[in-house]
Amino acid sequence: MKCRVCGSALHATTTDLPFKVSNRTIVILKQLPVEQCDGRSEYLIADAGFARVEELLPTVNASVGLEIINSRFDRVPFQCVV
Ligand SMILES: [Zn+2]
Repeated sequence: MKCRVCGSALHATTTDLPFKVSNRTIVILKQLPVEQCDGRSEYLIADAGFARVEELLPTVNASVGLEIINSRFDRVPFQCVV
């Protein structure tokens, strides 16, 4: 796959990316799979990365201002024990 901006080769790596999930909540997904551009510092989220974003973002507690999730590991859902 080639970079859409400069045409350089892309290679698979991981990076940490912030996602704004509500007006006051930001989630940082660490070690997300991305395709990184050789030419500059552009990247695009790899298919595997998108899958993790779609899995993890809906689990975020929107009342929390900042949450950091390592996307390599399965997240234990918050459970309310009554
Ligand atoms: Zn590029």
